Amino acid sequence: MNPRKLLLMVAIAVALGAFFAFDVGHFFSLDYFKSQQAAIETYRAAHPWLSAGLFFAVYVAVTGLSLPGAALMTLVAGALFGVLGGTVLVSFASTLGATLAFLISRFVLRDWVQNRFGDKLKAINAGIAKEGGVYLFTLRLIPIFPFFVINLAMGLTPIRTWTFYWVSQVGMLAGTLVYVNAGTQIAQIDSLQGILSPGLLLSFALLGLFPLIAKQTVAVVKARRVYGKWSRPAGFDRNLVVIGAGSAGLVTAYIAAAVRARVTLIEKHQMGGDCLNTGCVPSKALIRSARLLSHIRRSREFGLRHVEAEVDFAEVMARVQRVIRAVAPHDSVERYTGLGVEVIEGAAKITSPWTVAVTTAEGTRTLTTRSIVIAAGARPFVPPIPGLEAVGYLTSDTVWNLRELPRRLVVLGGGPIGSELAQAFARLGSQVTQVEMAPRLLIREDPEVSELVSQRFREEGINVLVSHKARQFVSDNGQKALIAEHDGQDVRIPFDAVLVAVGRVANTAGYGLEELGIPITPARTVETNACLQTLYPNIYAAGDVAGPFQFTHTAAHQAWYAAVNALFAPLRKFKADYSVIPWSTFVDPEVARVGLNEQEAKAQGVPHEVTVYGLDDLDRAIADGEAHGFVKVLTVPGKDRILGVTIVGEHAGDLLAEYVLAMRQGIGLNRILSTIHIYPTLAEANKYAAGVWKKAHAPERLLAWVERFHTWRRGSLRRPSEAVKARAKAMV
Ligand SMILES: Cc1cc2nc3c(=O)[nH]c(=O)nc-3n(C[C@H](O)[C@H](O)[C@H](O)COP(=O)(O)OP(=O)(O)OC[C@H]3O[C@@H](n4cnc5c(N)ncnc54)[C@H](O)[C@@H]3O)c2cc1C
Repeated sequence: MNPRKLLLMVAIAVALGAFFAFDVGHFFSLDYFKSQQAAIETYRAAHPWLSAGLFFAVYVAVTGLSLPGAALMTLVAGALFGVLGGTVLVSFASTLGATLAFLISRFVLRDWVQNRFGDKLKAINAGIAKEGGVYLFTLRLIPIFPFFVINLAMGLTPIRTWTFYWVSQVGMLAGTLVYVNAGTQIAQIDSLQGILSPGLLLSFALLGLFPLIAKQTVAVVKARRVYGKWSRPAGFDRNLVVIGAGSAGLVTAYIAAAVRARVTLIEKHQMGGDCLNTGCVPSKALIRSARLLSHIRRSREFGLRHVEAEVDFAEVMARVQRVIRAVAPHDSVERYTGLGVEVIEGAAKITSPWTVAVTTAEGTRTLTTRSIVIAAGARPFVPPIPGLEAVGYLTSDTVWNLRELPRRLVVLGGGPIGSELAQAFARLGSQVTQVEMAPRLLIREDPEVSELVSQRFREEGINVLVSHKARQFVSDNGQKALIAEHDGQDVRIPFDAVLVAVGRVANTAGYGLEELGIPITPARTVETNACLQTLYPNIYAAGDVAGPFQFTHTAAHQAWYAAVNALFAPLRKFKADYSVIPWSTFVDPEVARVGLNEQEAKAQGVPHEVTVYGLDDLDRAIADGEAHGFVKVLTVPGKDRILGVTIVGEHAGDLLAEYVLAMRQGIGLNRILSTIHIYPTLAEANKYAAGVWKKAHAPERLLAWVERFHTWRRGSLRRPSEAVKARAKAMV
């Protein structure tokens, strides 16, 4: 521990010890004051300023050290200095003392508390950072918690010291006045308890609740203003209308139907949205063919000869479509209709906070609804690079229409989608050049992750060009080329097809958001609060359109919150919980992550320890010929609590599930280590990573004693090292 903190703690402990050991408390009792009142009054009359100063200093010390006696001293202030003088003295002394206690708690304990419980306190921290003053004011006025507890607890939060000071001073003023005033009649007071009558307590409570009531009122007024220009229908045909039948929309509608709400799901293009038709499903089907081919190419490594394969790209893509068709029934109109969802295949437009116009082949009709969930998804972002439109390009939306393998393919983008598709096309036989502006692929992951992936890509023949900025596309006599800038030089990259995979942008235009004035974030997603409500509290957004993540599982996760909140607010409302979000990039070696990685922990200043287990050591990985990659775990220093895990290697996404569960349920590495894992499996890697951590945290001193114990049990009294030396000598 920091020596200054230790010193302060010792000083406080000594002061507190002395206070109780010498029974200083009895000087702060009503009886004692009454018995000494005449003498104290005389002294005060003779030395008015000195006595005020002394009183002030003692008051600050008592409150600063959180000692009992402040209530009595407040009464005494009234008795000695009158209502005005007493109130001024106590108001400043109590606020200064409270701030001192607040600062002590902050200095001594805050770092420890935030490090230990930081992730659990995230919501509280965010709330305090935003509205700490309101909470503090309420706490000051409603005397449920003793004041010293509030001082110490607030020190652990991120509230600013100045805010704490002035809110405390204002918040305590009414109580101070009551006590000081009572103190002017101290002769009639028999106990401190009777000073606050039930009526007075109620008034304080109401005063304390005032900011909260005011906040609610402001919210209601704001909502009224937002809704003001729209006329609300007298009744609604539906409880919920969901726009978009991708991952987010489907799950929203499913939940609504499951709780017997009347729900309509509107899809303008294809049921299943991006994931089924142009995203996860086709990409994983393509990757499967490419992966099989990569194994066939390695057949000699496994003792197999004459194994060859010829790529029929059109057939590969036909299989991709067959896989989509096989999965499609899960997301079909029939299935959802059977579940109780009304499905309309048409384009939706929000025309008021409670009405949605749907245009189908038959025409346009308007639905009335109590709530709306926007789940309109995202689309590939196409950067405005000169010449791109003229040469023509593929995106993750259109690449699935290819039936001929491009001979030379440029993949623009080194993120997850670009990397997955670059490797798949390269394995199927394209000469792939992957162009990334950032200094490495998969820039959100730790550098060694990018390094492993790039190294494999290069070994497989992909021309990985990082720190290359696409500047222009040109076409000379039908020869297409990308001009990229690298180190101030132009690099010319000829190609037959270019796949643009530089990110995805939310669909926010053309279906009523502009007319309703629903704000868009700087990340170009629909702006929502933590409950996924937009500017209009009955209109929600979930999935890619809302961000911040762009995964099927996060879309489904948000969908639960959007559906439940849309159907049950304001009776019951939940804030979306993003505390444990896993994801995987399905390149080979696969990359999976949950929680913090090292670069994020460093950037956010989160104290951490890193434990790495190399998969080259794992029996099953060796047997499978996949002995590469690692499990990297970040933990709280000195603790087994997991902050984040990155796994690179075979089936990393599947392996990660154990850590996702552990983080979600607060399970540490010790418990993973004590769990039986089947031998020989890849999953054992998780246990071995926990083992590496355990070894690094072995209790060396205790083990030295245990070693002595064993030595003693062997009947030898010599120190173990000497015994070993003796044995070695004997052998010589
Ligand atoms: C190549 C690729 C691979 C991917 N791989 C993975 C992966 O492995 N794992 C993973 O988790 N995620 C993956 N993703 C991301 C995943 O596909 C998306 O995060 C997910 O589909 C988002 O779901 P959503 O419901 O928010 O949006 P979407 O699935 O895009 O659905 C939105 C739907 O809304 C409809 N719509 C829009 N406007 C209207 C309107 N006005 N009226 C009616 N309907 C409308 C659209 O037609 C669309 O069907 C991948 C994406 C791509 C592109």
